[in-house]
Amino acid sequence: MKILLATSNKGKVKEIKSFLKEYEIYALSEICEPFEIIEDGSSFKDNALIKARAVYNKICELNLQDEFIALSDDSGISVDALGGRPGIYSARFSEPATDEANRAKLIFELKELDLSSSPAHYTACIAVASKFGEFSMHGFMYGTAITEERGENGFGYDALFIPNGLNKTLGELDDDIKLEISHRSKGLELAKFVLTSIEKKFNRSKFIKSSN
Ligand code: IMP
Repeated sequence: MKILLATSNKGKVKEIKSFLKEYEIYALSEICEPFEIIEDGSSFKDNALIKARAVYNKICELNLQDEFIALSDDSGISVDALGGRPGIYSARFSEPATDEANRAKLIFELKELDLSSSPAHYTACIAVASKFGEFSMHGFMYGTAITEERGENGFGYDALFIPNGLNKTLGELDDDIKLEISHRSKGLELAKFVLTSIEKKFNRSKFIKSSN
């Protein structure tokens, strides 16, 4: 069983590949021309399923459904002082929607409220679409969003986020530490159960085909 990721976000691809080391994983761009997926859902789960489904449809178009499944990640940061924003709009928070501009907007909005920090959390919804059905699971990471960028590691809002129980931002912490505690890893930990079960079904259907 091979996994096709419904994302071209380099940060996500790197973390998913590091966490699911036992699987053969491909970024979308390695299998086909990346195509636009309209994420018009109203929750992380909606958008994760929209992405996984769109990539699974592409897998079927290429007649690869006996070999590949689609796996997506829809994620973002919710800041308490901003009423939970940017949430599902984390990637498109600013204009232009770059990581740098998104962080600058978050800092600006907190400073407008005379705040130097706020409780915040990351959410990741991992969705899987396969010939054996669709699945979704969530992971969360709680901490504090600050108004000063610290560190170069990670991506997105990592330079502004201090996980609970630590005193450094994800931008300052090693990749290995983020991999142990992140919203994405927690969602992927659950996804492993789903992947194991789907893999068994793939193997069983191959066995049935070969014994016919
Ligand atoms: P999506 O690609 O629509 O799921 O948007 C994800 C956006 O949320 C990213 O572009 C980042 O801005 C933010 N984000 C999600 N997960 C992380 C993370 O682990 N670190 C930093 N930013 C993240």
